Amino acid sequence: SRQFRLIRRPVGLPKRDDFEFRVEPARPPEAGEVMVGVEYISLDPAMRGWMNEGKSYIKPVGLGEVMRAGAIGTVIESRAEGFAAGDVVTGPLGVQSVATLAAKDCLKVDPSLAPKPLFISTLGMPGMTAYFGLLAVGEPKQGETVVVSAAAGAVGALVGQIAKIQGCRVVGIAGREDKCRYIVDELGFDAAIDYKTESVPDRLRETCPNGIDVYFDNVGGQILDDCLARINLRARIVICGAISQYNSTTPVRGPANYLSLLVNRARMQGMIVFDWADRYPEGMRAMAGWLKEGKLKSREDIVDGLDNFPETLLKLFTGENFGKLVLKV
Ligand code: NDP
Repeated sequence: SRQFRLIRRPVGLPKRDDFEFRVEPARPPEAGEVMVGVEYISLDPAMRGWMNEGKSYIKPVGLGEVMRAGAIGTVIESRAEGFAAGDVVTGPLGVQSVATLAAKDCLKVDPSLAPKPLFISTLGMPGMTAYFGLLAVGEPKQGETVVVSAAAGAVGALVGQIAKIQGCRVVGIAGREDKCRYIVDELGFDAAIDYKTESVPDRLRETCPNGIDVYFDNVGGQILDDCLARINLRARIVICGAISQYNSTTPVRGPANYLSLLVNRARMQGMIVFDWADRYPEGMRAMAGWLKEGKLKSREDIVDGLDNFPETLLKLFTGENFGKLVLKV
């Protein structure tokens, strides 16, 4: 198996030297395990957090361990009931070409339903994050205004499209002109704000004349503060992520405008997608249905070559990715 192991806790942006690239014989499966040929690896902003020491919602990747990652692949050999060679599975396969792991951690998928990358995109973790984060935590109602940041990314693009399906007015914030054009022209958002070239407070005033009812936050930092300044009575802020803070070498910056929550009796709530694991089938059915009806578009940004892992991951933090970032093994 070709693999990347974490050998050093990154300071700031992760570097190639924080990992060791190794080629090792794949471990044959023991009872209850499967050996999987990994095909597409999901690169997620959360991976940055998993590299840090300290208490979180999941234990950190240990030094010397294969870097954790969700992925999809095909079973090569099985010693687990219900799994056979040739089955296509998703699971925490890691940044490697062959993974041996407990079959109970894998989910069998039907590859005739969609191209494989979709199972780690719209039909996978980012899709479930958008679906449950927006609907169960954001609770948007018809006619309300929903704002989403990192709006052309894996989660954000889906959040905006689901909000449109719910009959909301949707404004997306993204960091490039072509991304802004895409979410309005191709995905049907009502407006877009380019936070790198426009004044976010000014543009929020223009594009959200009735204020913000739901803010789906993927980035934290200044954009969160700008949105808090425009929220309505009983607004809901979904804390999905804070990518602007993940590589910070100084303490994480909290919202300065938090008294807006008090004044507006608003709620700001964190969410972790894994909490909805028992409802994924429902989420997947809904997303697959909307894809089929043409109400939802899925966009994957696929980079070739496992060897490019460290540099490819950085695209998430520079905004070079356009759509769900996937590494093809
Ligand atoms: P994306 O596909 O959205 O990629 C990340 C994007 O973030 C970049 O393309 C870039 O877009 C934007 N970005 C990067 N740095 C900054 C910055 N400093 N300020 C503003 N925007 C920035 O990634 P995902 O869709 O996978 O993840 C989006 C968010 O959702 C992340 O915060 C992630 O941690 C979170 N998440 C949370 C989950 C949960 O369970 N809570 C599960 C999955 C994801 P641009 O060009 O617009 O700057």
